[in-house]
Amino acid sequence: MTYRVTLIPGDGIGPEVTDAARRVLEATGLQFEWDVQVAGQEALEKYGTPLPERLLESIRTNGVGLKGPMTTALGTGFRSANVGIRQALDLYANLRPVRTMDGVSSRYENVNLVVVRENTEGMYTGIEHEVIRGEAAEAIRIITRRASERIVRFAFEYARKYKRKKVTAVHKANVLKITDGLFLGTAREVAAHYPDIAFEDRIVDNMAMQLVRDPNQFDVIVTTNLFGDILSDLCSGLVGGLGLAPGANIGEKLAVFEPVHGSAPKYAGMNKVNPAATILSGALMLRHLGEDDAAERVEKAVEAVVAEGKHVTYDLKPDRNDPTAVGTREMADAIIAKMREL
Ligand code: NAD
Repeated sequence: MTYRVTLIPGDGIGPEVTDAARRVLEATGLQFEWDVQVAGQEALEKYGTPLPERLLESIRTNGVGLKGPMTTALGTGFRSANVGIRQALDLYANLRPVRTMDGVSSRYENVNLVVVRENTEGMYTGIEHEVIRGEAAEAIRIITRRASERIVRFAFEYARKYKRKKVTAVHKANVLKITDGLFLGTAREVAAHYPDIAFEDRIVDNMAMQLVRDPNQFDVIVTTNLFGDILSDLCSGLVGGLGLAPGANIGEKLAVFEPVHGSAPKYAGMNKVNPAATILSGALMLRHLGEDDAAERVEKAVEAVVAEGKHVTYDLKPDRNDPTAVGTREMADAIIAKMREL
């Protein structure tokens, strides 16, 4: 069987990390056919839009996509194609697993948590405008019962499937009484249907402090779009940075897998950055496809290479200027070699 996957190389370091992931996935022995599609600036130049219909159609047809990060200008320019893909395809759940790995220096031990972020509404609806030119602007944050219910249900179903014990809903219902009040109230209703899994809620500012103080008290975290965006980066910082943080955008039928990190333009084309976040996103894709054995081999190979600390990129060295750090390609080669040994 051949899996057809939409491949979006992305901008900046995107082409390098997706190429590494593609090679590792192929080294599992599974057959893939990659349908390469462009988005963002390149698509704007080629097709007149940062999010071409042919890309969306490709994901609709193939069911799965693997995506590199894309650059989005600050304050000006076209709307984020990343957010656009998630909304256009209703990929409502953004899943970001975070765990400590041997060989990575971090302040904490045994962290193993998952951030489930609502991906389609909240602060990222893109509905914003100037109220008084140059003086006042407004963004509209939308929270619906439907989206809150399905994201919290997703978190509980995930907890059940992966034998996790607790779901924590994060909100700001003390201040955003109506919008986050709706999110929290809905979360409590959904939680009542899962008596086998513990449930608690936290106000987001307290949550940020609690995560830094003792991340081991958390298991599955479910929250709205903006809070999830921020907390998931914080969580990747708890375990050694963005180079190892995979992510998935999952809808009812379709799913797109991508690293948490961005396009790091200053490192573009330098064969420098860590490909592991994208490779681990590929492993999440394998699990989604039901290829658990292959996913496990990829994850174990990444873990082993990281633990050995020899063939790793600069960000995984205690001294970031360590001249023995290898490049993106070489780290992927080491992971492939390790998979053959396992
Ligand atoms: P970034 O994640 O690109 O980079 C922040 C820093 O993290 C980098 O300077 C680098 O030190 C480190 N880093 C990131 N990826 C790494 C890797 N694989 N290996 C080693 N170190 C790594 O974030 P940014 O600088 O805030 O954003 C740059 C661009 O990326 C922006 O245009 C932003 O909109 C975009 N972005 C895209 C996505 C996405 O496509 N999903 C996500 C976040 C940011």
